[in-house]
Amino acid sequence: MNILIVDDQQTNIDLLERLVKKLGEHTIKSFTDSPKALEWAKKNSVDLFYVDYQMPDLNGVHFIENIRKTPINGNSAVILVSSSTEKHIFYEALDAGAHDFLTRPFDAAEFLARSRNLIKLRKEEQKLQDRALHLESEIGRATEALRTSEERYALATKAAHEGLWDWDLQKGRIYYSKQWKKMIGFREDEDECENIPTTWLNRVHPEDYRGLVSAIDHHLNNYSETLNWEYRLRHRDGSYRWMVCRGIAIRDEKGEAIRFVGSQRDISDRKEVEEQLLHNSFHDPLTGLPNRSLFNERLEQAFIRYKRDPSQQFAVLFLDLDRLKQINDSLGHSAGDQLLKLMGPRLLACCREADTVARWSGDEFTILLFDTESMEDIDHFCERLLKTISRPIIIQHQEIVVSASIGIAKSDPYYKHAIEMIQDADLALYRAKSEGRDRYVLFHQEMRGKGPTPFQYETNLKHALEKNQILFYYQPILDLKTQKTTGFEALMRWRHPQFGLVPPDDFIPLAEESGLIIDLGDYAIECAVAQLKKWHKTVDPDLKIFINIAKKQLFQKDFVVKLSNVLAKNHVAPHHVVLEFSESTLIESLVPVEEILKTLSEKGIKVALDDFGAGRASLNTLPAFPFDYVKIDRSMITRLAKNPKAQRTLSLVSLIAKNLKFKIISEGIETKSDADEVHKLGHEYGQGYLYSPARPAEDLKKFLKAPPAKKHANG
Ligand code: C2E
Ligand code: CA
Ligand code: CA
Repeated sequence: MNILIVDDQQTNIDLLERLVKKLGEHTIKSFTDSPKALEWAKKNSVDLFYVDYQMPDLNGVHFIENIRKTPINGNSAVILVSSSTEKHIFYEALDAGAHDFLTRPFDAAEFLARSRNLIKLRKEEQKLQDRALHLESEIGRATEALRTSEERYALATKAAHEGLWDWDLQKGRIYYSKQWKKMIGFREDEDECENIPTTWLNRVHPEDYRGLVSAIDHHLNNYSETLNWEYRLRHRDGSYRWMVCRGIAIRDEKGEAIRFVGSQRDISDRKEVEEQLLHNSFHDPLTGLPNRSLFNERLEQAFIRYKRDPSQQFAVLFLDLDRLKQINDSLGHSAGDQLLKLMGPRLLACCREADTVARWSGDEFTILLFDTESMEDIDHFCERLLKTISRPIIIQHQEIVVSASIGIAKSDPYYKHAIEMIQDADLALYRAKSEGRDRYVLFHQEMRGKGPTPFQYETNLKHALEKNQILFYYQPILDLKTQKTTGFEALMRWRHPQFGLVPPDDFIPLAEESGLIIDLGDYAIECAVAQLKKWHKTVDPDLKIFINIAKKQLFQKDFVVKLSNVLAKNHVAPHHVVLEFSESTLIESLVPVEEILKTLSEKGIKVALDDFGAGRASLNTLPAFPFDYVKIDRSMITRLAKNPKAQRTLSLVSLIAKNLKFKIISEGIETKSDADEVHKLGHEYGQGYLYSPARPAEDLKKFLKAPPAKKHANG
């Protein structure tokens, strides 16, 4: 750390220097002349300042004000030193931007404790700020390009100022800086902003209140090094703003917190983009209803609640519109889309607030229904639902009447996994259709044929590898400009003699849970690299292979070594291999992912962030890790042209990724118009059914020579 001492008395400086040396190895510089010190500090970065209050040419408070205006030291830590204990000096100093205040003569222990705290906070803040600033500057840069359409991002990047607060825990008073008050719409002299904790805490969003208070408590009781919490605060205009609040307690010799100081920053802007991303990835763009992922998540929660308390019964309804295909065929797809859109509100109208109505796929909807103690409740509900659905609709000047078939599975102690309920509801739906449609059927055990349950999958999966049942399909990834195949993503399949070809979504989660994924993952690397070697030899030495890596695979200490051995054995250069990690792998991993990514990149192996925009998509992950590629999840891509809101979010995300120099791969390109949209956004690569689904290597010959037929080409 660089420390600067400014004091007009040389004896004071000597004493301070002696104390500061006890803080450890730091570079110390000192000045008796404050204007000279200021000149120096305009050019040199300082981490911590000790500034005397009384100085002849430029007093301490003015010195600090000037420091705050410099680009280089605008955020440095500052302690004002004074022989006077007058409160007004202290407040003046805080308003000018000081973090702490020490009075002479010093108590050495107090001096060291406060200085150490500030240094610790400073280090911590620097780390966080580097990330935040990086992100904000990326958003800022992206914003420049989007200025006309997204003015508000530009405004927000300018308002990156921090508000400061200082809480005297013994007196129960809090000092709020001018900027702090300004952030929630108050002038500094405003009466409502009384210097007490409730001024702050009463404005905290009710949903965030407990979180914040326990984080504060946690820190004050010394369980965390610093406070660092994101929450919503009510602005004077009644709206809530997202804030990040950072603070550190100052403790007495017994370790009791006596003062608590910190800062607060408005991060509403970042949150808004994140929330939009989150919304997009959990909702169906056409109907605006929750999508399959969100439905599954809610089902999982309901299932866990029920397992804990069997009185919390619920039902899963699988609903299929009976005539959508005919309508699509006779009136065209846009009529079909219109019909689906109108169905959403109808289904919702029959449900209660706690229930979930989701679009499962094409013409299928699912409903999570609560309060289903008696079969009578379910009967009533379904009768009302069928009646509501069959009310006539006018589409393209034609009156249309549709009906639906419904399959139902009720919560039951028999179920071990939530998805079994979906499978059973689906079976009941099948029965409803075969019994003549326009009806509902409750699932019964005897409807279950020989289809496997997840439990059967799990027991069989253990032997899949030794029985040679695991194989790989490959899906081409194309350069959107030249339409040439850049490489292939290896996608695992399980061929079982009874279950048939099992898709990965049905067994990878089970393998992850049981740890089998480690062996399966090793096998994926071996097969995919060996396949790439074949292609390099016979068709194209530039092809890349994209391999999915699960979280648990990273637990192996020798992951990188094993991978390097496979590459060496096959004579495949590391830069031809791209490992795909999903965001949750990176965030939730117990191992330091940064280190693994660094080792991989030192070895020349490429990495991709997979499924960006699905699930917990957080903009923070983007600048935090050094990716080569970002794969945008298909929930954001498929049918993009019909979703202007998703387009806006995606253009912002694309610009950020571009600024970070990541190459973008769009997943799930199903139509020519999807391809056009992402090409316009500057995505370099694309993957999806428009080009080819994943297929066995032998079936991909046409992607291995000439570019595909021109009809798929863009522009
Ligand atoms: P993913 O990594 O997101 O892989 C892309 C998935 O999207 C593949 O599904 C692919 O077939 C599908 N897809 C590609 N283009 C389109 C399109 O245009 N429309 C639609 N609707 N889908 C498209 P798949 O093969 O069923 O794989 C599902 C997931 O299973 C993968 O998602 C990946 O997370 C996981 N997985 C597959 N193979 C492996 C593996 O070897 N190891 C690990 N850990 N996970 C794997
Ligand atoms: Ca993938
Ligand atoms: Ca993906």
